Amino acid sequence: MTFELLIIFVFGLSIGSFVNVCIYRLPLNKNINKSSSCTFCGNKIKYFDNIPLISFLILTGKCRNCKKNISIQYPFIELLISSIAVLIYLKFDFTIVAIFSFLFIISLIILIFTDYQHFIIPNEITYSFIPLGILVSLTNYSIIDLSIYECLIGGLVSGLILFISSKIFFYIKKIEGMGMGDIKMISMIGFWLGLPNTIFIIILSAFFGSIVGLLLIFIKKMNRYDHIPYGTFIGLTAILIWTLNIFLEFDVKDLLIKY
Ligand SMILES: [Zn+2]
Repeated sequence: MTFELLIIFVFGLSIGSFVNVCIYRLPLNKNINKSSSCTFCGNKIKYFDNIPLISFLILTGKCRNCKKNISIQYPFIELLISSIAVLIYLKFDFTIVAIFSFLFIISLIILIFTDYQHFIIPNEITYSFIPLGILVSLTNYSIIDLSIYECLIGGLVSGLILFISSKIFFYIKKIEGMGMGDIKMISMIGFWLGLPNTIFIIILSAFFGSIVGLLLIFIKKMNRYDHIPYGTFIGLTAILIWTLNIFLEFDVKDLLIKY
């Protein structure tokens, strides 16, 4: 068991390293297959300096060539992804559901960071995970037991709700409140988690986003015209709901029936 966990952990680190590449390159429209180079001096990073986590520790977080600090985000993401891999493995074992769940969570983590850093939700992710979500619901390996109908309704209706509310917002306020990226992201989540969960995610993420926004305005880190990376909150809330669903058997539908 411990040995298997170690393998999964190391596997998670290497996937985390790839996730770092996606977070950095997708918003800049850079090729994700090219080898890595230092973001400061452009020096090509040798394979032995590119080992997840280990290289960061050996190099004490500095580029071997220019000695500039490497962002702590790299080891953080690697550790985060490998911890998620371990948790999913403990819950689902090495199964197809585990792989689909892992992929879905990875896609959300990429979007959380690209939106936070660049206000960009790359189409590469939403356009691949929408059809994948539909395919998954056609198999018996859906990550939260979604039928194809629930999947299609989830994706289409939630996308439409957000699209219409963004148009109404624009009509009243004359400013863009929500980008197409956010709408595609919500729709993508709808195809994976179904409509009740996604509506819950829309409401909760708007709530969390406003609270954080107000706090930032209050401590003068932001003014009221600044953008809020809404996709970051959508992603965090979606992971929260998925976690509650899987690990605590919390179901939004039960909540709706109760009240
Ligand atoms: Zn460098």
